[in-house]
Amino acid sequence: MSVYQKCIPHAYHASIFEIPYQTLKETGIKSLFFDLDNTIIAYDETVLSEKHIRFFKKLQKDFNIVIISNSHYKRVSGALKNFDVPYVWLAKKPLKSGFKKALKLAGTKKEVTIVIGDQLMTDVYGATRFGIKSILVASVKRKSDRKITQINRKLEKIILKKIEKKLPDLYEERLKAYVHEQ
Ligand SMILES: [Mg+2]
Repeated sequence: MSVYQKCIPHAYHASIFEIPYQTLKETGIKSLFFDLDNTIIAYDETVLSEKHIRFFKKLQKDFNIVIISNSHYKRVSGALKNFDVPYVWLAKKPLKSGFKKALKLAGTKKEVTIVIGDQLMTDVYGATRFGIKSILVASVKRKSDRKITQINRKLEKIILKKIEKKLPDLYEERLKAYVHEQ
């Protein structure tokens, strides 16, 4: 499988609040791994809001939630300080090690797990490489992307073009809205 094929998510939704969690539950999904930066909060926000915490606490009734972030410990632990949830920091997505740790924390299998994130090159590509399905969401605030992410975004653009050309139907279904949302 080529790199661009590994960058195609299972689905796209405009935000974490729009994902049909009930359907995921009914199809047997047990664990959800959420990226932090620009998936849950913008990079210039430091902590989860009350709304986020209420939302996640409700989700925890149906799923094992793990936060999997490439950010450093202070950023991740600080953002999650009011919310009791397992997390992986410096996850090194798209490498496999962070996903492996998250799977251990969740205590479930790859087949019943979904990764949710805002980046093709880390979240989606990493999940596929590791053998997990992924859901792509629009960034909370694209302008707050860090330097390294801005580089990834350039790569992402090239990959998106390739997918559009090679697999127009899948592009239309799962990526077009993502491109236009930004
Ligand atoms: Mg992110």
